[in-house]
Amino acid sequence: MQNTAFTTAWRKGVIARYLTVAGATVDLTGCGDHTYYRCTGCGHGTHGVSVIERVARERAQGHAETCRALPRPTH
Ligand SMILES: [Zn+2]
Repeated sequence: MQNTAFTTAWRKGVIARYLTVAGATVDLTGCGDHTYYRCTGCGHGTHGVSVIERVARERAQGHAETCRALPRPTH
């Protein structure tokens, strides 16, 4: 099985990662009251506005379950 979520090294600072239905990932960074998330498929995320970690995890997981954008190829 080829799956980028498991073969790609995690970016520095990523504390959690959710696999989307399309094979992209939603990466969580930061911690505590200053947690961020970003989808590698469509770019959806906090865009610099931090949320608490619990909310970030809930939103990241919810987005991962619905996002069908493919991850952008990395070079
Ligand atoms: Zn997405």
